Amino acid sequence: MCATRGTRRGAHPTSSSERQSDRRSHGFPARWRKVVQSHGDALRDRVADFVRNRVMPCEPVLDAGGPGAAAALRELRARARQEGLWALPLPAELGGRGLSFERYAALAEAEGASDHGPAALGSASLLDAAMLWKHGGHRIREEYPARLAAGELRACYAMTEPDTPGTEPLRTATRAEEQPGGGWRVSGRKWFVSGAAGADLVTVLARTDGEPGDREGLSLLVVPTGSPGFRVVRELPVFGAGGQWEIDFDRVPVDADHLLGRRGEALAVAAERLQTGRTLRCLRWLGQAQRAFDLMCLRANSRTGSRGPLAGHQLVQSHVFEALLALRTTRPLVHEAAAKIAAGLDAHVEVGLAKVAAARMLQQVADAAIQVHGAAGLGPDTPLPALFRTGRAARILDGPDELHVTSVARRVLRAYEKYENDGKGTYEQCAS
Ligand SMILES: Cc1cc2nc3c(=O)[nH]c(=O)nc-3n(C[C@H](O)[C@H](O)[C@H](O)COP(=O)(O)OP(=O)(O)OC[C@H]3O[C@@H](n4cnc5c(N)ncnc54)[C@H](O)[C@@H]3O)c2cc1C
Repeated sequence: MCATRGTRRGAHPTSSSERQSDRRSHGFPARWRKVVQSHGDALRDRVADFVRNRVMPCEPVLDAGGPGAAAALRELRARARQEGLWALPLPAELGGRGLSFERYAALAEAEGASDHGPAALGSASLLDAAMLWKHGGHRIREEYPARLAAGELRACYAMTEPDTPGTEPLRTATRAEEQPGGGWRVSGRKWFVSGAAGADLVTVLARTDGEPGDREGLSLLVVPTGSPGFRVVRELPVFGAGGQWEIDFDRVPVDADHLLGRRGEALAVAAERLQTGRTLRCLRWLGQAQRAFDLMCLRANSRTGSRGPLAGHQLVQSHVFEALLALRTTRPLVHEAAAKIAAGLDAHVEVGLAKVAAARMLQQVADAAIQVHGAAGLGPDTPLPALFRTGRAARILDGPDELHVTSVARRVLRAYEKYENDGKGTYEQCAS
């Protein structure tokens, strides 16, 4: 396991090497890492404890990538299995713990406090494994979901293209041509595909019928990345951080039974995945914002100038107040979205509100925490630059803010219009 950096339990850092070790802990001082706030939910507390005490100390190694990161991840996963924390939300048929979405939502925030939490605890495969399990034919279900859940395979999801707006999937230019002897040939280019370089499978959105702009005719195909004609073109660092890739499909052969869902019905499957995925991200962003907030408060109390600790300055208190307000007002929105998804209800409005609020909130809280840290907040010794980067990217990925703002507003206005015209429903139903 990664060396646990920091100081003795319960002790304040005394020597300069201890202080330096604390600074480099890329998270919390050791004494703080031991203090895991109890939420009266034993499983959630165990997940929070695992992420804070085992995953966070490994972040520098995991961020660096390469064989060291792979070895650290393997060790973390083995430990998560031993502790009964592996793959909590994955279906039991696939080797997971089978927690309901509602139950998992209660602990996803703690798990997501580190970007590496879901991978270390085996939840990162949830969207892909569940999508393939639910919408795949016999062969897909036999070959992939259980191995994804076990961490033996990795998958990625490719919708966005360099030459068409990601906000308009109907204009998708990637095509899948049906072959006379059966199967498909996929041609096109996708970019900003998270995790594409190490993936064994890519689920790709392609046009199987019709012309760009048509509502019908889009399908999802599962493409093994070892297929001839598949190529990783380049990495696309986001503010210097890796993980997103441009990929190319040059007449890539795909078996007929690797069509996911029904031909021409990709958007329904994609919408289901996106709604769940956005909500999961929001839960994780809450965890990351809480982490930035904790760091900000610790810094405000411990950094002392000639007039005492930073915490004594009213403008620092204002950062604390505004960040806490953003966190506390966003959290119920996210849980409302999660509850609606768990109940199988239409959650478009709730997910849209939660996505915009959570992305803004993470950016705001990380920014405030950086400000209170001064230059240290921009340097390599805290996770704040990474948290800020995630917050900024959050306002674009999974649909930019503008898309959600207009889509939520239109839905709500339509409901009012219907009420005025038909007298159906109530004003409360329109707005809630
Ligand atoms: C870190 C990261 C990870 C990602 N991971 C993936 C992935 O794994 N798979 C994948 O397929 N994609 C991924 N993406 C891509 C992401 O989903 C798209 O970038 C996003 O959907 C927006 O599409 P676009 O970049 O083509 O922007 P465009 O559609 O070109 O839009 C550009 C801008 O135009 C404005 N705009 C667009 N539509 C409207 C509107 N209706 N009203 C008002 N303004 C509007 C907005 O300001 C928007 O930001 C990722 C992106 C990032 C940054």
